[in-house]
Amino acid sequence: MKFDIITIFPQILDSYLSESILGRAQKQKLVEIKTHNLRDFVKDKYKKIDDKPYGGGAGMAFKIEPLIKAIQSITKSYKPKTESLAIIFTPAGKQFDNKTAAQFAKKYDNLILICGRYEGIDARLEKVAKNLKLKIENFSIGPYVLTGGELPAMVLIDSISRQIPGVLGKDESIEEKRLGVGVPVYTRPETFVCGGKKYNVPKVLLSGNHKEIEKWRLSKRVKN
Ligand code: SAM
Repeated sequence: MKFDIITIFPQILDSYLSESILGRAQKQKLVEIKTHNLRDFVKDKYKKIDDKPYGGGAGMAFKIEPLIKAIQSITKSYKPKTESLAIIFTPAGKQFDNKTAAQFAKKYDNLILICGRYEGIDARLEKVAKNLKLKIENFSIGPYVLTGGELPAMVLIDSISRQIPGVLGKDESIEEKRLGVGVPVYTRPETFVCGGKKYNVPKVLLSGNHKEIEKWRLSKRVKN
């Protein structure tokens, strides 16, 4: 799976994406992540990627020309017969969830993630992309408004990558598939004392009775 991120703040993404499981997945060539600075796709010396919205109002919107140039520069390196999707992040988009993450991990070879800022992106982008035969969809990561699409891009990359076989360590992936998410976990010490109170690990986990432990864990899981 290849992720191409279009952003005006590539540095925001670098440290998160290069550490831990995602860093390892890139080293193992299970995923490829590339950031593209939108300002590299404008010719004028001020690198102006935004302008005032027609109709008035405060704030600025991303211009369409640099976005289309960035998309065309990315898609020209795509291998033939690969499945691709471009995603526009907007708080008004379809809610992204774990089911979608799993579907995307199976279905797509390339994802282009377009991170908006300010008042968003020139609305013609969707139509133009479709006319260029690129599949494009709007997604939100939740019912709140962020200052930019960089956090949503990282959320998608993280949640999709961990669905790609080999990205998670064997143990993590087996436990999650078997039990679901939301199973409480405990580690040493067996009794933690704080403010004069004792906090104990549930007895069943200390029982050594694997059948009972499994039953308890399954009763606590959240299916996803
Ligand atoms: N009035 C704009 C609108 O309705 O789209 C708000 C834009 S928001 C301040 C700036 C950018 O942050 C958006 O273009 C989008 O890329 C991103 N963004 C903000 N909240 C988001 C969310 N919940 N999900 C996905 N992207 C979001």
